[in-house]
Amino acid sequence: QVDRYLYHMRLSDDVLLDVMARFQAEMVKGLGRDTNPTATVKMLPSFVRSLPDGSEKGDFLAVDLGGSQFRAHQVKVFDDGKQSSQLESKFYPTPKEVIQGNGAELFDYVADCLLDFMETKNLKHKKLPLGFTFSFPCKQTKLEEGVLLAWTKHFKVRGVQDTDVVSTLRKALQKHKASFDIDIDVLALVNDTVGTMMTCGYDDQRCEVGLIIGRTGTNACYMEEMRHIDLVEGDEGRMCINTEWGAFGDDGALDDLRTEFDRELDLGSLNPGKQLFEKMISSLYLGELVRLILLKMTKEGLLFNGKVSTALLTKGKIEMQHVSAMEKYKEGLSNTKEILTELNLFPSEEDCIAVQHVCTIVSFRSANLCAATLAAILTRLRENKKLLRMRTTVGIDGGLYKTHPQYAKRLHKVVRRLVPTCDVRFLLSVSGSGKGAAMVTAVAYRLAAQRKQIDAALAPFLLSLETLREVKNKMRTELEYGLKRETQASATVKMLPTYVCGTPDGTEKGKFLALDLGGTNFRVLLVKIRSGRRRSVQMYNKIFAIPLEIMQGTGEELFDHIVQCIADFLEYMGIKGARLPLGFTFSFPCRQASIDKGTLVGWTKGFKATDCEGEDVVDMLREAIRRRNEFDLDIVAVVNDTVGTMMTCGYEDPNCEIGLIAGTGSNVCYMEDMKNIEIVEGNEGKMCINTEWGGFGDNGCIDNIRTQYDKEVDEGSLNPGKQRYEKMTSGMYLGEIVRQILIDLTKQGLLFRGQISESLRKRGIFETKFLSQIESDRLALLQVRRILQQLGLDSTCEDSIIVKEVCGAVSKRAAQLCGAGLAAIVEKKRENRGVEYLQITVGVDGTLYKLHPHFSRVLRETVKELAPQCDVTFMLSEDGSGKGAALITAVAKRLHNVGQK
Ligand code: ADP
Ligand code: MG
Repeated sequence: QVDRYLYHMRLSDDVLLDVMARFQAEMVKGLGRDTNPTATVKMLPSFVRSLPDGSEKGDFLAVDLGGSQFRAHQVKVFDDGKQSSQLESKFYPTPKEVIQGNGAELFDYVADCLLDFMETKNLKHKKLPLGFTFSFPCKQTKLEEGVLLAWTKHFKVRGVQDTDVVSTLRKALQKHKASFDIDIDVLALVNDTVGTMMTCGYDDQRCEVGLIIGRTGTNACYMEEMRHIDLVEGDEGRMCINTEWGAFGDDGALDDLRTEFDRELDLGSLNPGKQLFEKMISSLYLGELVRLILLKMTKEGLLFNGKVSTALLTKGKIEMQHVSAMEKYKEGLSNTKEILTELNLFPSEEDCIAVQHVCTIVSFRSANLCAATLAAILTRLRENKKLLRMRTTVGIDGGLYKTHPQYAKRLHKVVRRLVPTCDVRFLLSVSGSGKGAAMVTAVAYRLAAQRKQIDAALAPFLLSLETLREVKNKMRTELEYGLKRETQASATVKMLPTYVCGTPDGTEKGKFLALDLGGTNFRVLLVKIRSGRRRSVQMYNKIFAIPLEIMQGTGEELFDHIVQCIADFLEYMGIKGARLPLGFTFSFPCRQASIDKGTLVGWTKGFKATDCEGEDVVDMLREAIRRRNEFDLDIVAVVNDTVGTMMTCGYEDPNCEIGLIAGTGSNVCYMEDMKNIEIVEGNEGKMCINTEWGGFGDNGCIDNIRTQYDKEVDEGSLNPGKQRYEKMTSGMYLGEIVRQILIDLTKQGLLFRGQISESLRKRGIFETKFLSQIESDRLALLQVRRILQQLGLDSTCEDSIIVKEVCGAVSKRAAQLCGAGLAAIVEKKRENRGVEYLQITVGVDGTLYKLHPHFSRVLRETVKELAPQCDVTFMLSEDGSGKGAALITAVAKRLHNVGQK
């Protein structure tokens, strides 16, 4: 009979799944900027972004307002590796005249209690940070501020709504300051759900949900992705959202599930029409629901022989503890009988069984509904993480959950049934709301200190416009040194003449071989150039690996290997017999005396073969070909990759007179007026100068901006002290700089829990391509974490944010420095031409420029800023090293033939 009577309170799994879906939709609505104002579930940002990580320490105070009692706590958090903490609390009553009186009185009362507490604990002369647990819906714009939206539960204090409760508390404390010697710093406003999550999070790092099923209310919070929180700036990381789910259904979304009893209860409450979900599940209301049901059943003659007692007619006569007691099945019907008797109801045994059953249905419905909304949150968490299965922990606090004999078990069981894809651990919080506020405060404290240290580490990477201008000017000075006869021998920017004197004119044609040595790959190419109306360039190429032992072996071995690769290629293409003209792209500093002679000045990047420096690379190649004695080649030109890049772009755009490489290395070439090049005879026309600007700073002129990390990278490199500018700007080194910073931050305990993993110790593991991936705007933090995991770096969400910040600082500085250098070049060109305003094209190649998400933009912006009188067009080069070498060879061949004629 009871079952039939309460048919609407028994919810099937299908109904619960439906409630879950409705709540999911409500969460989305609450998070959206446009939908939030009308959303019932407010999804309030808490400004708590991090869970405790065990390194928190110190003494904290907390006050807790909003539960059934007012509490003051002192929490000592120890940074002893065992995550221990000590809590001492004192409880104070919350008299009705205080919680339903006016605001000034309430906060004076809170201040009084706190002072009393400090007196008992002998804390009065210490400066203590305070966390304020205030378990009502508040709109926060930062951690230490919260505007009360509305009172809930049994609170109704005048003059507080729509004001910031933190500043009110501060003022109340201030008033006492005169008479007492206290210094309290209110650092955080915390909802009790958040406090619960933080307390449990201290013991279990997986905890990312806080749930309260309390004597006086119910609510939940969880860690949401920042990118889904429209109301707060920023996309990085997560923030705890206080759902305020008690208001679920206030727009009628649950009307089909609400019974006549729910409606009656609501009408008799302090806040009719509000907190409708809370009124179906929280223990403040369950007793009353039972009373209303029993009353109606009695009136209809279904119970107690139809005799209604005065007690049964009295609001609030049945409380949650009665319901709990009656549901203690193990104790049979004795509790029920006793309670009903006290209500003057003279129950028969059948009455007792029926009443017990009513209680069970009412509290079971509560657990069911709570499970459905919790399941919605868990599903959202899992989807946020893009996981098919998830392990997580829910921190729980609250009287109903803790004291009701069956509630917890029911809740767990239903949640697991509704979300079989989540392995949930339910962790009971011990005095979560108070300790949690202290935890939030402790975390805020730790984060502020960490922030300072990270800022300090990255500060040297922030270059002011002033500094960049200085870099540009210094670069300009060094360019001049390299061009002047007296200074060029000792110049760090070597300004090497290339004997390339003109850009292609379109009449080039023929078949050419090209070699590309000096980048990531060694390649051999066949290039077919057509002129005239069928102007086109066709290329065939093959990539060959150069093993490390050859790169760093003897010169003879290196060149024998190169010739071996050429032989393979000729074989492969079936052109072994043809004696083709060859352009040799050799991307290292070479001193040239003509276009087909180049003496290696010094290896850079990853090369270090012996007996090459000071030798002519064309001779070495010819000798290796002779040694092999299998084929012959006509080596026409030795070409730097920057020059190849400039020529390739020059083939399309005659205004291209600069070539830039931002790849493994960093370098620039440009067309200089012959009259400025003192070491080459002649004053007519122009010649391309390979600046080899990577050596900029080798005389110490930019040491003022080099950081300890740059020095460490330099010291660990193949060529210490050399190529200092290149080591701050090119792909081969950026990852390594990042790694050095990460090591330092880890040593300072700011990353990876202070543990320097094996992989972080490995030189080169942090490749520059990872910078590109990590800094990509489209990448969620979780993916950053996955990348770090692949590198063997086990990172938390906070770690990932810091790593991303480090990458950003390093790559931005690289792009800015490169831009400052380029600004010096374009300014020089403008002055050479003697024009007010210069239009010029820069041909660019290099994976760093092409693939890094921000490098090219920052570079361009810097040039614009530092060389405002130059309008610079950047043109991406397609395979400059191959095509360019062929074009140079073609031009050289043409000039050579003309000369012979
Ligand atoms: P080269 O070795 O001839 O300079 P690239 O221009 O292709 O050849 O540059 C390769 C270098 O670019 C690599 O050594 C690496 O430092 C860097 N790099 C590779 N992938 C990326 C990427 N996705 N983003 C940024 N830099 C990258
Ligand atoms: Mg290259």
